[in-house]
Amino acid sequence: MTRKLDAGKLVIASHNQGKVREIQELLAPFGMEVISASDLNLDEPEETGETFIENSLLKAHAASKATGLPALADDSGLSVEILEGAPGIFSARWAGPKKDFQRAMKKVNDAICDCDTDEQKATRAAAFICALSIAWPDGHEEVFEGRIEGEMVWPPRGDKGFGYDPAFQPRGYEITFGEMDGEDKHKISHRADAFQQLVSACF
Ligand code: IMP
Repeated sequence: MTRKLDAGKLVIASHNQGKVREIQELLAPFGMEVISASDLNLDEPEETGETFIENSLLKAHAASKATGLPALADDSGLSVEILEGAPGIFSARWAGPKKDFQRAMKKVNDAICDCDTDEQKATRAAAFICALSIAWPDGHEEVFEGRIEGEMVWPPRGDKGFGYDPAFQPRGYEITFGEMDGEDKHKISHRADAFQQLVSACF
């Protein structure tokens, strides 16, 4: 049976302040007191998993063990169908040490263009995926995976959002995430999908 989250302290296993703030806002109505991993000076574990789910579980268990509190972690990225799911869990790494996402988007587009056949090159289906995990100090875990389907476009369009947003057009829309207002993106994104699942299961 799914374990419910009692009102009280919850550690967010992330050092990304933007992500922590977004999660804080989402969980405020449920009486959760959110504390970030950086507030607690927690180390970031190495992401050695092979899937978004494995990596989010790794981070959630490490933070829960270190604090004795329930902990929430997320892991997300872009998965391109014709590239067999790449860049996937390596989405951040494709941007290099300078976090250059112009370079990362070009790398994805070049990889699609390098495919063998015209049919493959025209297959630009992709999805953003977000795994959200909660771990408790007794080792119990709950995991939710959200996704949004779409296609890769070239050249990238728009300067809103972050990461691969300008090169990703969600299915049913004529604008990219880079052209979409944050408020609208947050209603349909992979993260919103995973959060809705978490909220209906755990509260
Ligand atoms: P992480 O889970 O914070 O490590 O994020 C992995 C990487 O996936 C990010 O650095 C982005 O490159 C990419 N990514 C995840 N979610 C999004 C999104 O909503 N838009 C654009 N890129 C994203």
